[in-house]
Amino acid sequence: MGKVVVALAAGCAVAACVVASVMVGRSVRRRRAWRRVVRLLEELEEGCATPVGRLRQVVDAMAVEMHAGLASEGGSKLKMLLTYVHELPTGKEKGTYYALDLGGTNFRVLRVQLGGQRSAIIGHDLDRQPIPQNLMTSTSEELFDFIATLLKDFVEREEKGPITSQQESRELGFTFSFPVKQTSSSSGYLIKWTKGFAVEDMVGRDVSECLQQAISRKGLDMRVAVLINDTVGTLALGHYDDEDTVAAVIFGKGTNACYLERADAIIKCQGLLTTSGGMVVNMEWGNFWSSHLPRTSYDIDLDADSPNPNDQGFEKMISGMYLGDIVRRVILQMSQESDVFGPVSSKLHVPFILRTPLMAAMHEDDSPNLTEVARVLKDTLEIPDAPLNIRKLVVNICDVVTCRAARLAAAGIVGILKKIGRDGSGGIAGGKMKVGSKSKMMRRTVVAVEGGMYTNYTMFREYLNEAMEEILGEDVAPYVVIKTTEDGSGIGAALLAASHSASPTVDIE
Ligand code: ADP
Ligand code: MG
Repeated sequence: MGKVVVALAAGCAVAACVVASVMVGRSVRRRRAWRRVVRLLEELEEGCATPVGRLRQVVDAMAVEMHAGLASEGGSKLKMLLTYVHELPTGKEKGTYYALDLGGTNFRVLRVQLGGQRSAIIGHDLDRQPIPQNLMTSTSEELFDFIATLLKDFVEREEKGPITSQQESRELGFTFSFPVKQTSSSSGYLIKWTKGFAVEDMVGRDVSECLQQAISRKGLDMRVAVLINDTVGTLALGHYDDEDTVAAVIFGKGTNACYLERADAIIKCQGLLTTSGGMVVNMEWGNFWSSHLPRTSYDIDLDADSPNPNDQGFEKMISGMYLGDIVRRVILQMSQESDVFGPVSSKLHVPFILRTPLMAAMHEDDSPNLTEVARVLKDTLEIPDAPLNIRKLVVNICDVVTCRAARLAAAGIVGILKKIGRDGSGGIAGGKMKVGSKSKMMRRTVVAVEGGMYTNYTMFREYLNEAMEEILGEDVAPYVVIKTTEDGSGIGAALLAASHSASPTVDIE
């Protein structure tokens, strides 16, 4: 009897030891897996680091590349495209103008009534529609017929009746936010598609002509008065509202910038004569590249998997189209290298499944249990039951990716300011100034900013504003104002249609 008890006790002790060692083994494994993901997060942080010294190198590189792009055709990855927009709206514009905004996620049609006094946009009506996915890779005729149909419906709704031939001709500003080589302020041909569009028969063709033909096919009497991109529209509205506005930047699905340049600084176009002595230059800065940009293996893979490898390098680190996908790639890597996310979800292999607004929602989740993070992980990535420490880890990943994006964007903006001598350093060729002399030389400088990433993603906006101050320093920062415009990409096109239908053209000697 005693022996049985002893044997039983011994058996129990062995079983307890086995259970304990399995548990210890499991917790050791769990700790090791956790350490592995923490290491990956640290590597990501190191790879994405943007200390102010590095940002200043990016500022310099941007200014240098701008010079190179203005000096010769193909002199830089920055195309520095002439827009032939030489006068920005003054506020005296009058009348009713239409605008079309095609450039990414949505397609917008606007009707703007101008009252002839500054800031007297009497009203604007807007119709916003998502662009059907199939039209992004269709033929130019299909794409433009779709646009012209919506335009005609909109005009009929606005003018309350069917279109008749007796009505006076309407003027249209067309915002087309893809790289275009302008041949005048109202014409230009498409250089290449970006942001997921691929209507191949359009490349090399005149964009205005494609639209004008579709408008005619629909029997609408409307003239394409200006062809611009969203940055130029934003600059036009920014300048209409505030004359100190010298540059405009878009942070939406893609990213781009334009600014007002002296005509004589556009060396690649010798003898450019404009009435104002200046011209708006479309930088196409999404394609900016510099060895100073902090690049990780995730960026390299994203680029290699994209339909446009080696292109739009800056955009791929900054814009709304890509940020979510960088985060997806990091989570995939972590999931493959450890089991902290459970078995690797097949959804993690789906490109662009984690859209940037969802990433932003996770990043900005301030609930104590990070319920929004849990929801996105479960609903979008099919990672159920992620414990709190994993949800925190995901927030950290979003933070690193967005912080880098915003700080690089800020460096890009300061690069523009440096090129035009508005960063307090005396311009790209300028020497050092005496301490205290900066503020005396500084002029108020406004940069108009627009796009869903900037307006809707608070953390992106805050990191960007913070980095601007850090780079510019406390003496200069107060003179630089970032102003958000609303629907500038469209309203600006209508404003320019108004100012350009009346103003003289540009001559080249
Ligand atoms: P587009 O660039 O298509 O003209 P917008 O300027 O409106 O359009 O920007 C839309 C883009 O902004 C979306 O594609 C998305 O990437 C980004 N975005 C929109 N809302 C948010 C958000 N809440 N957080 C982060 N990014 C957002
Ligand atoms: Mg846009």
